[in-house]
Amino acid sequence: RRQKDNSFDFLFFVQQWPGSYCDSRQGCCFPVTGEPGPYFGIHGLWPNRDDGTYPATCSNEAFDPSLLADVIDNLNKNWGTLACNSKRGNEDFWEHEWSKHGTCSGFTQREYFQNSVDLYNDYDITGALRDAGIVPDDRFYSIAEISKAFANLLGFAPEIECNTDPKGNRQLYQVYICVAKDGKTLVECPASIRKPCQGSVQFPVFGSNDSGDVK
Ligand code: 5GP
Ligand code: 5GP
Ligand code: 5GP
Repeated sequence: RRQKDNSFDFLFFVQQWPGSYCDSRQGCCFPVTGEPGPYFGIHGLWPNRDDGTYPATCSNEAFDPSLLADVIDNLNKNWGTLACNSKRGNEDFWEHEWSKHGTCSGFTQREYFQNSVDLYNDYDITGALRDAGIVPDDRFYSIAEISKAFANLLGFAPEIECNTDPKGNRQLYQVYICVAKDGKTLVECPASIRKPCQGSVQFPVFGSNDSGDVK
């Protein structure tokens, strides 16, 4: 049996738009910590290779939230689960991300989660869209303008993933920012290794956010 290859070249820092997760066939549920605000939320920090493959589940080191005492508030605020099958809520989501991706990152659990919340707080992608006039108002925006707004903030264009609502509309779902193996420095993503989202996509309303329009 060949030895497992745990190598990787960079990290994808992945964030999800809650409105697009919820407005899909699977639907969503909110954790006991409450409905998230109208901001992108963290999905995970994923080791990846330049050819698009990636290592997963690199050790059996158990997830231990007691190691995360000083980041837990930040995790609950910005890394909440939207899945309806998370019995223990956010901790199920964090455990899954740690076990599948974190154990391949080379970081300790504290570093893995701290690097993620630092990246989240250092780069406000929801704010970058808002500054460009791109707000979650159920309207359609071009991927070109969305990508430009992100690149203005990050210095590099992230990868963008779309999903589909039950009516068949394509919508802005996840943003993949490329980060060096230090977990801090942003880098250019390798030439499209994921199925790119193109054209025009809906940016769904989420929660009480009404795009700031006066009603
Ligand atoms: P999906 O099939 O929903 O796109 O992805 C399922 C899971 O596969 C994700 O939650 C993630 O754990 C993993 N995954 C999907 N695409 C990528 C990728 O490009 N890079 C890495 N590292 N993991 C991915
Ligand atoms: P991935 O394996 O692609 O990193 O993460 C997907 C897994 O995380 C699925 O098993 C999904 O049920 C679980 N999960 C829990 N909460 C969430 C959430 O808020 N968003 C997404 N995309 N997956 C979640
Ligand atoms: P407030 O604390 O008044 O709700 O928000 C202060 C500023 O931080 C506002 O510009 C708001 O948009 C932003 N903000 C508040 N909570 C979050 C969050 O969870 N994520 C992001 N990205 N921005 C937030």
